[in-house]
Amino acid sequence: MEKIDTLIIGSGPAGYTAAIYAGRANLKTILYSGLQPGGQLTTTSEVENFPGYPQGVDGNQLMMDLREQAGRFGTEIRDGEIVKADLSSRPFHCVDDRGNEIEARSVIIATGATAKYLGLPDEEKYRGQGVSACATCDGFFYRKKVVAVVGGGDTACEEAMYLSSLAAKVYLIVRKPFLRATEIMKQRVIDKENIEILFEHNTVGLFGENGVEGAHVVKRLGEPDEERYDIAIDGFFLAIGHKPNTELFKEYLDLDAQGFIKTVPGTSKTNVEGVFAAGDVADPNYRQGVVAAGSGAMAAIDADRFLQAN
Ligand code: FAD
Repeated sequence: MEKIDTLIIGSGPAGYTAAIYAGRANLKTILYSGLQPGGQLTTTSEVENFPGYPQGVDGNQLMMDLREQAGRFGTEIRDGEIVKADLSSRPFHCVDDRGNEIEARSVIIATGATAKYLGLPDEEKYRGQGVSACATCDGFFYRKKVVAVVGGGDTACEEAMYLSSLAAKVYLIVRKPFLRATEIMKQRVIDKENIEILFEHNTVGLFGENGVEGAHVVKRLGEPDEERYDIAIDGFFLAIGHKPNTELFKEYLDLDAQGFIKTVPGTSKTNVEGVFAAGDVADPNYRQGVVAAGSGAMAAIDADRFLQAN
């Protein structure tokens, strides 16, 4: 059984930044990088909004730089996953996928969240070539172009509004005959001249020679008056929700309705003393690399203060 001060679960910007701070605070720390070393940013080619890179940076390069920095101060970075986490009593007992057992005085959960997709093979084919699940991340690449946003809730409306100030035109593709968003969001979208809402529409495919050039859509799918046609678009944005990676911890931690870990506002503290959450796993609102990194720093500082006091 290994006994350590801090176990960091996850190797996205939150986990690696937590590792930098924990290492520099002289905490005996192990970080598990999980099945996706480097996290979500390794799936994108161009990151233009992470501070410190004036010309932008390839997502993989950014995460390799962060990994190198995280390893500089003594944190041991391990490939592999945590498969069991007993947070019922301290020290916390965790097990990795090789069966190694770890006793940690504090745990930082930085396991991220995964965007939901419709499940079309074309989404995979055009991922990074016109298909995105993040308007804040990729909207800038679609200035004066035509894009579609899929979804009918508040997030979809927010994404559509954000894109409408960049793109020439935004289609909002909504499965239902109404928007599920709050009244104020609905009204904003309805009033926006360059947003066209396609109610009762499903997307069944995408097409294009060099990236997305259009979508095959169906109005009133399966009904006698079903109508199939194509719309010309340059970008296809999913806004149908995210799934936080909280399966392992749900027995112990307070989660919101979507499964995001609830933290004490302004801190990374969860309802279990000694367990902290950072990054997208606890962030239904922003989901950005720099925000995740910032909250990783908070989590390591909170963990250090907790360990000093206990
Ligand atoms: P993640 O990056 O999601 O990392 C989670 C980590 O947890 C992974 O390493 C995974 O392997 C690990 N993990 C999960 N379960 C376990 C387990 N049981 N044991 C061990 N490890 C585990 N943001 C920007 O700021 N700018 C952008 O341009 C931008 N572009 C994006 C493009 C794409 C295609 C996507 C998908 C996202 C983009 N984002 C962008 C959002 C950004 O990637 C996320 O906000 C950020 O990565 C969240 O960081 P995180 O550390 O919370 O988690």
